[in-house]
Amino acid sequence: MHKVKTDASSVAQYDIIIVGAGLSGSVIAARCAEELGKRVLVFERRDHVGGICYDYIDEKTGVRASKYGPHLFHTDVGRVWDFVQKHGEWITYEHRVYARVDDKLVPIPVNITTVQELCDPSIKTNDDMVDWLKSNQVPCKCPSNGEEAALAQVGQQLYEKVFKNYTKKQWNKYPKELDASVLQRLPVRPDIEDRYFTDRHQALPKNGYTAFFEKLLTHSNIDVSLATDFFTFKNNIDFSKQKVFYTGPIDHYFRDSGYGPLEYRSIRFEEEYVDAEFFQEHPQVNYPGYDVDFTRIVEYKHFPNQPDIQKRKRTLIVREYSLDDGDPYYPVPTRTMASLYEKYRQLAGRENNVIFLGRLASYKYCNMDQAILSALNCFDETVSGDSAKPTLSLFVTFHKELYSEYYNGLDRHMDKVTFVAVNPARNKDIPERLKNRVIREWEQDNYDTSLQDHGYNESSTFYHVYRNALHSYADYIGFFQYDMTIDDTIIDKVLSDPDAPNTIYYQSSWLQDLSNHDFFNGVYFLNSYNEFFGTNHDITVIFGDRPYVMCASFIVHRRVYMRIAPWICSLIQDPNLLTYCEIHFAMRKQTWRSPWIGNLLERAYALALFLEPGLTAVPLGSVHSQDRAALKRGSATSRFISSYRLALRVVRMNKQFSKNPITRAATLALLICNVLTVGTSRGLEWLFVWCVDIMGRLRIIRREFSDDEFRIYSRK
Ligand SMILES: Cc1cc2nc3c(=O)[nH]c(=O)nc-3n(C[C@H](O)[C@H](O)[C@H](O)COP(=O)(O)OP(=O)(O)OC[C@H]3O[C@@H](n4cnc5c(N)ncnc54)[C@H](O)[C@@H]3O)c2cc1C
Repeated sequence: MHKVKTDASSVAQYDIIIVGAGLSGSVIAARCAEELGKRVLVFERRDHVGGICYDYIDEKTGVRASKYGPHLFHTDVGRVWDFVQKHGEWITYEHRVYARVDDKLVPIPVNITTVQELCDPSIKTNDDMVDWLKSNQVPCKCPSNGEEAALAQVGQQLYEKVFKNYTKKQWNKYPKELDASVLQRLPVRPDIEDRYFTDRHQALPKNGYTAFFEKLLTHSNIDVSLATDFFTFKNNIDFSKQKVFYTGPIDHYFRDSGYGPLEYRSIRFEEEYVDAEFFQEHPQVNYPGYDVDFTRIVEYKHFPNQPDIQKRKRTLIVREYSLDDGDPYYPVPTRTMASLYEKYRQLAGRENNVIFLGRLASYKYCNMDQAILSALNCFDETVSGDSAKPTLSLFVTFHKELYSEYYNGLDRHMDKVTFVAVNPARNKDIPERLKNRVIREWEQDNYDTSLQDHGYNESSTFYHVYRNALHSYADYIGFFQYDMTIDDTIIDKVLSDPDAPNTIYYQSSWLQDLSNHDFFNGVYFLNSYNEFFGTNHDITVIFGDRPYVMCASFIVHRRVYMRIAPWICSLIQDPNLLTYCEIHFAMRKQTWRSPWIGNLLERAYALALFLEPGLTAVPLGSVHSQDRAALKRGSATSRFISSYRLALRVVRMNKQFSKNPITRAATLALLICNVLTVGTSRGLEWLFVWCVDIMGRLRIIRREFSDDEFRIYSRK
């Protein structure tokens, strides 16, 4: 790693300035240096690289310890795993955490063993555990605070023993004083799984994190200026020529705005040397009780990436205390802070040539793999896009045959369309004329073989494209189904629109709009979205006053796609998340890994697109095969029947709705409009949009599922 001492005149020689040598900044630096051959300067305020992942060898014991708390790497994302492996050697390590409660050591997250030890020794099986939880939970449909949310999930006993005081120590507030959302997803497992993480890849860097970072930053194009505050040199940067990636606190960047500081919880680390081979049985023991002030004790000697030479009879333990003041660690999850951050985010959007990323600039807790993924995506979106990429290239994904009638109208623009084949079984069906326009995803170097387990429905293709990073080929990502027409007029429309990067082009003549689906649990999706993006959208505003009209097929700018894709993937990657989807006109309960998940994904990404700030939606005139077939036959039967059934079900399931004469009238209008639109092609599209608009305003959308139906999913 090449260290430099910066002075005002030397800053000008760099193409890219990176603020912070933590994970986010270092990944960006490595990508810029490796891929673009640009000169990169990294400013780091501290006297070491690695940000809060930094580790060192403790002189008195020879133990490798982390200065800012232990860091356990875990990921399900193939692209991240490939990246870290390319830059260092990793050893497999599955972390287990225990808590000291009632003088016993019990596994955390709570599992069957925890309940056996603390509450009921007779709990043995999965079913016992589910029954026990059910009989202890204190039902509450709409929890108004953290305590009610916690009791509804784990019941009084576990709440008192494991969660109540720990929360107080962590946040300096009892659950009762916190927003319900903070304790809405408590980690409880109905089995004996005792690994802290369940990701496919769990590991530690063989030679520690600091060595990993140093390797990442070692490149002839990268200079690192340690113990240097970016703001000392900010005025020496020419923002019209030099790009800046800022990974420091966002409120600090805009401290002159007068908006005030964002709140964080901090940690005090208290070290103690113990003259014994080991102090405790496990690397990490949590202390949820209020009898001691600290939250946990970490004994680093237990981690397997320790140096060979250590003092055998001496060990280092670190107690952690949660505090209000000090280095910023955990963003405080309150509405006030979310809306303050939103203000800063808006300011950030207006900065010229400064890109904000990382945990401090986005005011969000993120695991290391998320930080790496965001940095990789950020590079794809903002920097690699500047280099020699085609100006327009659309993806049209298909999992079945690509019938000629669906691309025949593409003569003028065929070279701008990339088709993605996701189903190897259909390889033979790719027409000769298209062969050099098709990416067969399973032939890519970085193909993730587990993808085929996720099926290849139209909309799970979204997931395929993301996981294999196929999007990096395209400026616009278009999701069209195999049996949907795409023609020159659609591409003309995108090409000729100066606002195209801020527009969602959506297919509107397929009448299965999302707003009136009875199995679309808007509340659930919105909560998850808010949690993931740290936003604070309000359900009543989203589904009440604004029409929510998005369809399954669309074209968006890569930037937009890249922002929402990680959220969609996180929904899919969670094996515990159950949901509903429509399979052949019946609702069935599925995990999100089901190949049938397409329906739900469509709703999830439609919602995400809808919530993206600053986007406008423009309908395209694409036509679905069934519409086309119906048109050919002069009949509207197939489309009509499915739309009709759908609308009827909405009427049936929502009692309030069926009693409301205006809403009934709107449904009727929609049904008539279905028939007319199908019967006369695009002519009455406006009428359809208008009807859906009215329905959106009339709040007919939801049917809420109980917690049982939607298993709560947890994210740290
Ligand atoms: C206590 C704790 C434990 C964690 N444990 C885990 C774990 O076990 N597993 C896991 O996956 N994730 C864990 N994480 C998350 C992980 O730490 C983050 O994902 C990761 O560190 C994010 O990296 P970053 O670069 O965004 O931020 P940081 O590591 O904070 O890096 C930002 C850097 O910018 C520098 N900087 C700020 N302002 C300036 C300035 N003006 N000039 C120059 N430099 C500046 C800072 O000094 C810092 O080095 C944990 C987080 C915390 C808080």
